[in-house]
Amino acid sequence: MKKSVVSSFDVDHRTLREGLYLRSTYNINEELAVFSWDLRFCAPMDKVPLSAGVVHTIEHLMAYYLRLDEKIGSSIVSFCPMGCQTGFYLSTMNNVTAEDIAEAIRKVYNDVFPLKSTDDIVGLNEIQCGNPALYAIEESNEALARYINILFPEE
Ligand SMILES: [Zn+2]
Repeated sequence: MKKSVVSSFDVDHRTLREGLYLRSTYNINEELAVFSWDLRFCAPMDKVPLSAGVVHTIEHLMAYYLRLDEKIGSSIVSFCPMGCQTGFYLSTMNNVTAEDIAEAIRKVYNDVFPLKSTDDIVGLNEIQCGNPALYAIEESNEALARYINILFPEE
């Protein structure tokens, strides 16, 4: 297969498992780089992907609350859903580790989840969002609980 200009296209998705991976690095200068992290909630192909409501709900919450994290918040460039609905991309500066990210996600899970109503989904309104009717409360609770178990399997 031809090497792609898109780094994630060089990953064989037939063997990719759920997890947290450093997908690519983009060097800005000798000290500074942007890391692109693959937050893979579902193994590709062999499982049902996340619903659009779950993708949108988790996007809102993580994009907001991860930026409030004391350790990684100021290093976050972006948090974006994957179009294939199997996970998310988190871009950070190069002073962040996979452990830092896993801890920050666990902190959001402990502080914000389980969601009870749309009041718990920050930014879900006509002013701040393009489609506030798209969300999933229970499914998002389940999807994030599952991902926490993937990040911290020993617990
Ligand atoms: Zn939105």
